[in-house]
Amino acid sequence: MTYGKKYLEKKYNTSLNELKKFPKYFLIETINTCNARCIMCGIDFDKKRAQLMTDSLFKKILDEISENVDYVEKVQIYYDCEPLIDKKLHLKIKDLKNIGVKTTNIATNASILFPKRSQELIEANLDEIYITIDSMKKEIFDHIKPGFDLEKEIFGNLAKDKQIAAFKHNGFWKSMNTLKDVMELNELYNKGNTPWIK
Ligand code: SF4
Repeated sequence: MTYGKKYLEKKYNTSLNELKKFPKYFLIETINTCNARCIMCGIDFDKKRAQLMTDSLFKKILDEISENVDYVEKVQIYYDCEPLIDKKLHLKIKDLKNIGVKTTNIATNASILFPKRSQELIEANLDEIYITIDSMKKEIFDHIKPGFDLEKEIFGNLAKDKQIAAFKHNGFWKSMNTLKDVMELNELYNKGNTPWIK
């Protein structure tokens, strides 16, 4: 608990009491299904009943965020799903931006990120998008996401939108997704071993 408290306060540069007032960070799942079946995915979408969040529930969340919007840092509109399956996603992002949310964010497998959807997201003022490709190697990608076409669907959509470019990186790389990653990177930093700024 003490380490968790310290970790949270350091990560968000805010006291725990302040953090407890109202959530600063939201993950809102407006639809709970996905069009992919990645081998590592923990969710059995075939057994799960696909559901779309009702407009009234989204409105209730929106109203609550609106009352505390100065406090909110980021709203991520996805969780265990492919958020673009929600055809009204861009309207929800627009609503969040209209009430003053600083940062909106989605993560997508990009398979249905067609130019029209991209334009809708841009016009809704989406701030951030994570594109989860899993592997740039076709044979590995095919293994992870059976039924998807890396070159035609994913890269094709992204290239049409001018949202993809490639370069060979030979330097230091490490992800920073989990607490373990943060601790390992902090350990390197504390030892003065910072290859990422060389
Ligand atoms: S894209 Fe994400 S949510 Fe969808 S099956 Fe793959 S890992 Fe699961």
